[in-house]
Amino acid sequence: MERSTIVRVQDGLHARPATRFVRLAKGFESDVEIVKGEKAVSAKSSVKLMLLGVKENDEVSIRADGADAIEAVDALIAYLENPLSGVEEGAGESATQPVPPQKEPAPKKVDAEASPPVADGGIHGVAASAGLGLGPVFAHFPQQIVPANKTLSADEIAPEKKRFEDAIVRLQEKLDRSLASDGMQESDRGIVAALRDIASDDALRDETLAAIDGGLDAVSAVIAASSRLADDFRKLDDAYMAARAEDMESIARQICLTLLGQEDARLDDIPDGAILVAEDIGAWDLARAPLKRLGGVVCGHGGATSHVAIIARTHGIPAVLGLGEAVNQLREAKEAAIDGHTGQVVVEPDAATRARFDEMIGAAAREKEALKAYKDVVPRRADGTVIQVAANLGSLEEVEAAQEAGAMGVGLFRTELLFMRHMHLPSEDMQAETYAELARAFPDHPVIVRTLDIGGDKPISGVEFPEEENPFLGWRGIRMCLDRTDIFKVQLRALLRAAVHGNLRVMLPMVSDVEEVRRTRALIDECAAELKAEGVACGEFPLGVMIETPAAVFGAAALAKEVSFFSIGTNDLTQYVMAADRLNPSVANLNDAAHPAVMAAVEQAAKAAMDAGIEIGMCGEAAARGDLIPEFIRMGLTELSMSPASIQATKKQLSELLETAA
Ligand code: PEP
Ligand code: MG
Repeated sequence: MERSTIVRVQDGLHARPATRFVRLAKGFESDVEIVKGEKAVSAKSSVKLMLLGVKENDEVSIRADGADAIEAVDALIAYLENPLSGVEEGAGESATQPVPPQKEPAPKKVDAEASPPVADGGIHGVAASAGLGLGPVFAHFPQQIVPANKTLSADEIAPEKKRFEDAIVRLQEKLDRSLASDGMQESDRGIVAALRDIASDDALRDETLAAIDGGLDAVSAVIAASSRLADDFRKLDDAYMAARAEDMESIARQICLTLLGQEDARLDDIPDGAILVAEDIGAWDLARAPLKRLGGVVCGHGGATSHVAIIARTHGIPAVLGLGEAVNQLREAKEAAIDGHTGQVVVEPDAATRARFDEMIGAAAREKEALKAYKDVVPRRADGTVIQVAANLGSLEEVEAAQEAGAMGVGLFRTELLFMRHMHLPSEDMQAETYAELARAFPDHPVIVRTLDIGGDKPISGVEFPEEENPFLGWRGIRMCLDRTDIFKVQLRALLRAAVHGNLRVMLPMVSDVEEVRRTRALIDECAAELKAEGVACGEFPLGVMIETPAAVFGAAALAKEVSFFSIGTNDLTQYVMAADRLNPSVANLNDAAHPAVMAAVEQAAKAAMDAGIEIGMCGEAAARGDLIPEFIRMGLTELSMSPASIQATKKQLSELLETAA
C-alpha cells in the first residue's frame, strides 16, 4: 500500500512535527516507510526521519506493509496534509525539543604562568567569589571512555550484540526511573525524555548492530555509529539539527558508560559542605546544582565575571576559577581548602592549614553577623540624594536572600535563566507573572528587568545560534532580540503587563547604537497597542540602557537623549575596553574594572548622564568593589546593584564614606 502527497507541515518534518509523525506511525503494527525521491526510511525512527530532511511542499509517499497498512497510510497522509488536526500533545512531545548541549569539557589551553604554585603547596587561580571553604572534594570530571579496540571473532559477535541490547535496556530503565522520580524539574524531565527517545530509536541501534557485525566491540561500535549519525545531522547545516547531533553524542556517551559499568558523577550527589571541582562547568548546570550544600567551587576554566562566578557570588559560595591545568591536582584529592579572596586552593590541607581556615571561617561568620546591623541603612549623600544599594538577581528564588540582605530594589534582573530553565521559550503569561511577582517583592523601590541577553557565554536552547568566530562580538543581547522579534515581543508584552506595578523599569543589554533603542521603542509601542486592542491591562515603564560597549560610552550623550537611565555593566565594559575576554584566565590580569581606561569610560558615561539629567547606576560586578565605590560615588552614580551577599558590606562602607564626606 503506497500513496503520495505534498507536505503541508510548516517548516517541514523536523522538531516537534517529526516526533508527532513518528508517534502516529508507531501506533500501527505495519512496517511503515516514508519515501522522498530515491530514499526510503522507517517512519518509526525520528532520527532517520529528521535526516531525510522533509521540507514543507516536498512530495513524499507513505508505504506500508501489514495488517493495518491502509489505516496507517491514511492517518500519516492526513497528518502530512493537515498537521494541526487530530494529534494530541503528549508526554513524548519532549523528544522534539532541543536538548541543551551536554557540554563535554575540553582541555583548555592555559598559560602555565597563570597558576604558579605558592610556597605552602597550594595552587592559585582567579579569585572569583569571596569567602573561605574547607571540605571534602567532589570531583566532577567526565569519565574517560576507553573502548576495547579489538576485532571480534565470529563467535563473539552474537554475545556482543546482546551486551549492547542489554545496555540499552538498562539505560532506558535508568532514564525511566529518573523520569518517574518526584524531584525532577519539568525542564530536566524534557531533556531526559528526549535522550530516552534517541536511545530507543532504531537508527542508532541498527547502525551499531551493523558495526558489531563488522567486528567492532560494542563501545567502539556505538562511538562509530553515533559519530556517523551526528555527522549526518551536522551536514544538514541547520542549527536545530546540529543540536540533535549533540543529543546523539550525549546519549552514545551514556550507552558507552553503561557498557563499561561506569557513571559520571552527578551534581545531585554532592555531599554537604563539599568543594565542587571541575575542569569546566556550565552556568546553567551550576544553577541547577544543590547550591545550599556547596562549600566552594573550583574550576580549571572561567574568570571573575563569568556567569559561574556570578552565580557563586549570588549564593555566597567561595569560588576560585581559571586554575588551568593545576585543577588536575584535585582530581583524586579528598579534601581542599579554598580562599575566594586571594584565589588560593590548598590540596589536602595539613593540620595547621585546617586550623587556620577554621579560624578564618569562624571570623568571617562573626563579621557576617555584625554586618546585619546595616540591613536597613539608607545611604544618603550630603545633598540628601539616596544611594540605592540594589540586588542583581537571576530568578525569583533569590528574592528572599535579597530582601533579607536589605536590598533597595533590583538593579538587574537577568532574564536569561528564565529562558535557560525551560525546554520551551517561556510564555508571555509565565513571564508576565514572574516580572509582576518581582515588582511586588520590592514595592517601595525600582525593579529593573533586563531584556534577554543571550549569546556570548549565555546561549539557550530554543534559539538557534549560528557558529560564530567571536560570540562575544556577535549576535547577542539586543542584536539578537531585534532580529527575533517573535521572541522579543513576547517579552515586551509581558513587561508591559507587569508594568501595572508602577515600580518596574526595563533596560536593554549590549546596546551600541541609538537605532537599537529607537527600534525597541517602536516595538514597545506596537506591543502596547496590541494589548490595548485585546483589552489586556498594561502599564508603562521607564526604558534604560546598559553601558557595556565602548560604543555606548562614546555615544552616551546621544543615548541619554533617548532613555530614562543608564546602568553600567562593567563585566562586559571591561572586556570590551580592555579587549580581554572575561572568561579567559590567561588575560584575567587585564580584565580589571579598576584599570584607568575602564574607570575613564565609567566617568565619561556618568558625565553624559548627568549632563542629560538622567540617573546612572552600575550593575556590573565592580559595583561591590570597596576599592572603587568611593570613585563611583564621586562620579555621580546613585545606584549600585550587586549580589545580595555584598549588600550589607556596601551599605556599611557607604554610610561611613558619606558620613565622612558630609
Ligand atoms: C555586565 O556586563 O556588567 C552585566 C551586568 O551583564 P552580564 O554580566 O549579565 O553580562
Ligand atoms: Mg553584560
